[in-house]
Amino acid sequence: MKDPVLYIIIPCYNEAQVLPVTAPMFLNQLQTMISDGLVSSSSKILFVNDGSKDETWSIIESLSKENEAYHGISLSRNRGHQNALLGGLMEAKDLCDITISIDCDGQDDITVMTEMVKQYRDGSEIVYGVRSKRDTDAFMKRFTAESYYKMLKGMGVEVVYNHADYRLVSSRVLKEFSHFEEVNLFLRGMFPLVGFKSTSVYYERHERLAGKTHYPFSKSMHLAFDGITSLSTRPIHIITCFGLLVSVLCFLFIIYIIIGYFMGTTVPGWASTVTAIGFFSGVQLICLGVIGEYIGKIYLETKHRPRYIISERTFDKDKKDSDSES
Ligand code: UDP
Ligand code: MG
Repeated sequence: MKDPVLYIIIPCYNEAQVLPVTAPMFLNQLQTMISDGLVSSSSKILFVNDGSKDETWSIIESLSKENEAYHGISLSRNRGHQNALLGGLMEAKDLCDITISIDCDGQDDITVMTEMVKQYRDGSEIVYGVRSKRDTDAFMKRFTAESYYKMLKGMGVEVVYNHADYRLVSSRVLKEFSHFEEVNLFLRGMFPLVGFKSTSVYYERHERLAGKTHYPFSKSMHLAFDGITSLSTRPIHIITCFGLLVSVLCFLFIIYIIIGYFMGTTVPGWASTVTAIGFFSGVQLICLGVIGEYIGKIYLETKHRPRYIISERTFDKDKKDSDSES
């Protein structure tokens, strides 16, 4: 087998603190894999600057001058982790045989890449990096994350349990994936839809090496909601069932009131009326809200706006690497 050209895709947003620490670690891992004869010597590390407001892009530019294994692209503005990652993957799909996507903060075990590439060489087109345990997470984060995965499964969304966006994907899969044109992205739930042979490798996740998370509770909730609504219409179905159930209960309640009226046991009850109104208004608003979420997504999809715009590159995209080895 010809040694595959690997592109390691790393989205970066305001990571000036951590990038100088982790960039040499990625390079070291890449060089190890090259010297072990696992990947081609023309493999690269591709940083995607997601419209950072700090020194991130200038650090990427100087890294690319330092070593030709470092490449960088910059998005015209901040588009969020999923779009930035997609931008990097689509940029790389015609330049390489395999990609590995990873966060730039050193939380994911970098050395697992070796195992991922071995799995690719054994015939898998997608290799999911899965966290073996969640010891480094606070109890709440662990609990919400694990319940979330279970809920996604219940909603009929096929996701790999405890897998985030650390994954090897072959360019063959990426070329098929490029036909998925939606703007509401939840990549970890979309790759299983492409099919092809896949497997998982396990690793432990560490604390961030520097800087702080860009996924506070509110943003995590947003991604979690996107995960459900972009991949499943089951919530709408659940609402319909719930609506039916509530209607049946209402009907029984009305019968109860009518019987009470004729038996003369009704008391002019303000409390029960207000409670019923409050409850049913709440139910209706929740149902309308969820349906509205889907309509909002349809609205966004119909625009077919570009999901990211690349404004700068540290390399010439059309120039083919002359260093293609056997
Ligand atoms: N990121 C990005 N754009 C954003 C937010 C985050 O490209 O708008 C990148 C960030 O630089 C990092 C990765 O996405 O490489 C994951 O973010 P973070 O580590 O903050 O999330 P956490 O690991 O805490 O969930
Ligand atoms: Mg992180």
